[in-house]
This record gives sequence, structure tokens and C-alpha cells, in this order.
Amino acid sequence: MSSSFKDVLSQVKKEIREVSVQDVDSAMKSRSDFVLLDVREKEEWDEGHLPGAVFLPRGFLEVRIEKTVPERQTPIMIYCAGGVRSALAAKSLKDMGYTDVVSMAGGYGEWKNNGLPFVVPEKLTKNRLARYSRHLKIPEVGEKGQLKLLQSKVLFVGAGGLGSPAGVYLAASGVGTIGLIDSDVVDESNLQRQILHWTSSIGMPKVDSARRTIFEVNPDVKVKTYQLRLDASNVLDIMQDYDLVVSGSDNFATAYLVNDAAVMLRKPVVYGSIFRFDGQASTFVPYEGPCFRCLYPQATPPELAPSCDEAGVLGVLPGVVGLIQATEAVKVLLNIGEPLVGRLLVYDALGMSFKTFRVRRDPNCSTCGSNAHIDLEAIPEFVCATNVR
Ligand SMILES: [Zn+2]
Repeated sequence: MSSSFKDVLSQVKKEIREVSVQDVDSAMKSRSDFVLLDVREKEEWDEGHLPGAVFLPRGFLEVRIEKTVPERQTPIMIYCAGGVRSALAAKSLKDMGYTDVVSMAGGYGEWKNNGLPFVVPEKLTKNRLARYSRHLKIPEVGEKGQLKLLQSKVLFVGAGGLGSPAGVYLAASGVGTIGLIDSDVVDESNLQRQILHWTSSIGMPKVDSARRTIFEVNPDVKVKTYQLRLDASNVLDIMQDYDLVVSGSDNFATAYLVNDAAVMLRKPVVYGSIFRFDGQASTFVPYEGPCFRCLYPQATPPELAPSCDEAGVLGVLPGVVGLIQATEAVKVLLNIGEPLVGRLLVYDALGMSFKTFRVRRDPNCSTCGSNAHIDLEAIPEFVCATNVR
């Protein structure tokens, strides 16, 4: 005679022992001699599970239980989503000779309804596993590193020559949040090197044009835009939300402002500058290495600095320097390799040479020295110098 599922379940429930979610909760607090088994499917597990639970889906239960729990006397508590699959699992284990098996009535749903603690495993979704698969093959990055990048927030000062290659690549790499500060609109003369912007972007605010490009490159990335000129009144508010700053400003005043605010907030800054055929890059980690002011204590006097419009730059140069900045940013965020802390990298495109120079912290630095006094208001408004965006 055949029996309905209802009959089977009620028969099973007579043969096994059920416990409440509170029983499991108090056992978790007071005992460590039992195994807590989650017999749901992978997708259910990934959405959240009980702390300390062992994942063994119902379909593999009988096949794998002897490996997971070799001793038949070990107490086992089983749960699923609502208490049905766990009841069937408990019966099956009992039949296999496990002597102390219970099923948690009401399952994970009841557990959550009672406000009891659960953990959500940090995992990349299927789509993300595909998109970032080349990172996952590098042990130094891996899934953990990629999740770290996705949770990271990088602020770009300037969406121009340096911000463009750095922004495109960091977005593609999967840096989760990108902030863009730029007050300008896209001009035809930008397009030769500022690859965030296209011919169709002429006249658009640079931050909007950049957001459009980044979205096309990687819709995973949240883009926050600030169409303004950075000054003492807004720099701290904006910068405090970010883990790292990529500085590609076109003038010394902004570079000092970014530096001093970053030292106050202890945020690392990846610095880059370009002029004609030459580029520079360094990574300033406050109090671990020198800051920008240790390197350049005083601004170039305005009368000696060419105006930004007149300074020339080879169109391909910012690509190299911006990508060095992007590489440094990834290294700092993942805490791998040796960033350019205490070193200034100088790139000569015509000679095709890279040289690094040691830079030490200046004990008398007005920003990070022992008698430092940071006054953001005192930084002159705008001094155009030898950098080009
Ligand atoms: Zn300093």
C-alpha cells in the first residue's frame, strides 16, 4: 500500500526527536560536543546560515556523513529551511546508526524569526566569478582580494589625463566605489589623452562623462560625482568616506590641499604628475613615509609656472603614469607588494627609462613633521604649475 508524503512525514516525526530553535541556541552557547548540520542547498546556505554550522546538502547526506561525522555517538543537530528536510535527514542518520540526532523544528526561517544570530558568507556571485576570474587565479588576490576591492572606495581628484586611465582600469578591476572630483566640462583638447571622455562628451561635465564610461566598463562600480573645485571647506567631508585617494590634480594648490587633508585623515594618496615627456609617481602613506610636502615643501611661485593651457604633454604619457597610480592603488588596497612609499618614480618617455629615488620624511615638514601645524585655509587658492591634466 502506498502512503502519501504527509503520512511519511508524520511517521518520521514519531521516530525522531525535534528540538526548538531556543534549544539549539542554548546548546550553541553552552556546549561544543555536537555537530550542527545544515542540509539545505548551496544557494540557501549562501544567503545565510547558523554560526558554526557545517554545510552538507540533503542530497549528499548519506554519501558524505561518515566522513563529516565519523563517530556514530557524536551528537548531531540538523536544520533546513522549515524543518521537513532536517526531519527526513535525522531519520536517515538514525537508520545509519547515529545514536544522538535531533532536528531543529521550524528550521532557519524560525531561527531568523526569533532574531537569533546568523552569518552571511562573503562570496562572489556567479556573474562576478566570471568577470573577475583572472584575479581569482592569482593567489595574492583570489576571491578574498576581489571582495576587498569590491568593498573599497577610491577617490579621484581630477577626471583628466591621469584620472582617465587610472579610473578606467580600477573600475574594470572591480574597485566597488569610485568618487570623482572635477569642476570642468569636456573640451576638444582633452580628448587626445583623457580616455574617460569621448567626442560625443564635448561640453558635458567631466564627472558625468566619466560616470557614463565607467558604467559601460563595469556596471558593478558605484560612481559618486563631485562637480566642484576642491577647497578647504569641502575636502575633509568628501575625503573621509574613502579608503584611498588617486591624485591627478593639475596644480600645486590642489596637490597641497589633498596632501594636507589626507595626512589629517590618515588616508593614503597615490600621486602622479606629467609634463611634456616626463612623469612622476609616488605613494604617500601618512606617517609611514614622506608626504607630498616632504618632497615639495613650497609651491612653485606662480610667476615661474607656465599656465596650464600652455604646458604641453605627449598624449600617451598619462596612460603610463595613470596606470602606475592604478597599480599602486590596488597594491595598497590589497596590502601586497612594495608600494612606492618613500620612493619617487621618475619616468622619461623619450629615453624610455624608469628611475626611483629615495625620499625621506622631513622631520620639519609643516604637514607631517613633529611640529606640524596643518591649516587648510592657508593654502593659496590656485597656483598653476608645471603639471598638465
Ligand atoms: Zn611631510
